[in-house]
Amino acid sequence: MSDQQRLRALLYSAEAPTPAQRARFERFIEIKYNERCYFLWVKDPNIIDGFRLEVGSDIYDWSIAGRLNQLKDAMRAVRPAPGEDIIPLLKKAVDDFIPLPVSEEIGTVMTVGDGVANVRGLKHAEYGEILLFDGNVRGMVQNIDKQGVGCILFDDDGEVEAGSRVHRTKRSAGVPVGEGFIGRVTDALGVPIDGKGEITPSGYRPVEHSAPGIAARQPVNEPLRTGILAVDSMFPIGRGQRELIIGDRQTGKTAIAIDTILNQKGQGVYCIYVGIGQKASSVRRLVSTLTEHGAMEYTTVLLASASDPAPLQYIAPYAGCAMAEYFMEQGKDVLIIYDDLSKHAVAYRSLSLVLGRSPGREAYPGDVFYLHSRLLERSAHLSASKGGGSMTALPIVETLAGNVSAYIPTNIISITDGQIFLDTALFRSGQRPAVNVGLSVSRVGGDAMTGAMRSASGTLRLDLAQYREMKVFTQFSNYLDDETQKNLRSGETLMNVLKQEQYRPYQEWEQAVILAAATAKALDGLDENGFADSLHKLCEGFSKVRGDVVERIKSGAKLSDEDRTAIAEYAKAAEYA
Ligand code: ATP
Ligand code: MG
Repeated sequence: MSDQQRLRALLYSAEAPTPAQRARFERFIEIKYNERCYFLWVKDPNIIDGFRLEVGSDIYDWSIAGRLNQLKDAMRAVRPAPGEDIIPLLKKAVDDFIPLPVSEEIGTVMTVGDGVANVRGLKHAEYGEILLFDGNVRGMVQNIDKQGVGCILFDDDGEVEAGSRVHRTKRSAGVPVGEGFIGRVTDALGVPIDGKGEITPSGYRPVEHSAPGIAARQPVNEPLRTGILAVDSMFPIGRGQRELIIGDRQTGKTAIAIDTILNQKGQGVYCIYVGIGQKASSVRRLVSTLTEHGAMEYTTVLLASASDPAPLQYIAPYAGCAMAEYFMEQGKDVLIIYDDLSKHAVAYRSLSLVLGRSPGREAYPGDVFYLHSRLLERSAHLSASKGGGSMTALPIVETLAGNVSAYIPTNIISITDGQIFLDTALFRSGQRPAVNVGLSVSRVGGDAMTGAMRSASGTLRLDLAQYREMKVFTQFSNYLDDETQKNLRSGETLMNVLKQEQYRPYQEWEQAVILAAATAKALDGLDENGFADSLHKLCEGFSKVRGDVVERIKSGAKLSDEDRTAIAEYAKAAEYA
């Protein structure tokens, strides 16, 4: 065996080891590694006293310098709460300090760039493990092959260069979780960025976690109301469901998510908004909207903005999901919004390309389906024995020119329980929210619909489908008989009923009253200007004269024929000025 192939052992110390010491080290290596080594002594006055032994990529440190470094790390870890005196904490850290002889695996950076480092020498590093680079840069193992490990970096890689040392932490990537995060804005790893001080976490959870199994789940049977009539009446969402919001850019996707958060006020649902690849300024605006409406009281915002490195954008949804799981496992209901997963996939694609994985369809790596399925599978409605908590997910996906059959949209459509498709043409024509009734669907939420809504929404989808068809057939004819004109007008009224301003959610009984009036064609004569205001007035007026019906709807009863007649008559007779 040549010297180059032999195991290399380097012994660092200030003074040369005595022959007896040297023999002891050689014996230690022989027992530990079962092979004779090429032994070299290196004079290093920085060691001060004691020895530091490097064998291959392993390090054994019995030196004073090593212990001083340990002490330095212990002092660095001291974090006073806002306003707390740091001196007693430092004293305690010094008193509690016990130096340990360390043995660890050390890696060496081979290449670094674009948020990715390739590291050699960490034979035992595991997938998803956090690695520490020089300058306290954090990374996560993302690739393992014969040459070494590929690692994504969460901090600025400025200080990391070829030859830098890498330490294992033996911890998988995780985020702090807990009640302290409610009302806060953090980065993708749970570090606050809203300037309101540190957050005291209640725990620490791995970002990657397996989804609850079948036995731990129960069917989706409780509604999660968005307050948006077009969604709640036709595409109801249940707690624990995954409903995709999909559409071209600027079609009101985020608006639906925000309205849904606003509507959870007082419903005992804790909300998490994960912004991925969004402009920091638009998320700031979103936070101030939520604050204005009192919705930050039950909401956490995680942000990996477009200017953050790709690794942070990649990890953000999993981190948000871990925070949501913490609450779900306590039996609480959580709503989580991933805005948006197309940018998430793009971030993952660039990481994968830099890591040297082979590109597949649309240059995405082969496991891009698994990227989103393992995330969305973690949404669930837990069984009663598991506390009965739930995590409802509203992932958002951006399409190009309405193309839902592109790679990422089809993947996510097949993972979710339905989609709300937003249409650019509808949006431009003023139909907002621009829900395309024909292409949207909710596969499980119907069971979660309550009595009044179910009976009021009845034939709405069918009526709208007929209206759409009739409109297509009649658009070129200049003569329309009375019957057709009346039907077209009713269809238009329905479309108007479904228009809704932002930040103005309807309560459930209001939705039932409006739908009952609309399907009875009692709103056909209404002026198109101020239509929304008229609807609000209708509800207000009706609740004054027939409070009993409203109460019954609130208690979850179906609408009786008598109720419907009462609503229709009131709607026809009432004056909306
Ligand atoms: P992007 O692709 O940029 O993320 P988006 O699809 O998330 O866009 P939004 O930002 O939610 O779209 O909405 C685009 C614009 O439309 C915003 O200015 C918003 O205020 C407006 N808008 C959305 N919904 C409605 C609505 N129901 N009524 C009136 N305006 C709306
Ligand atoms: Mg948006």
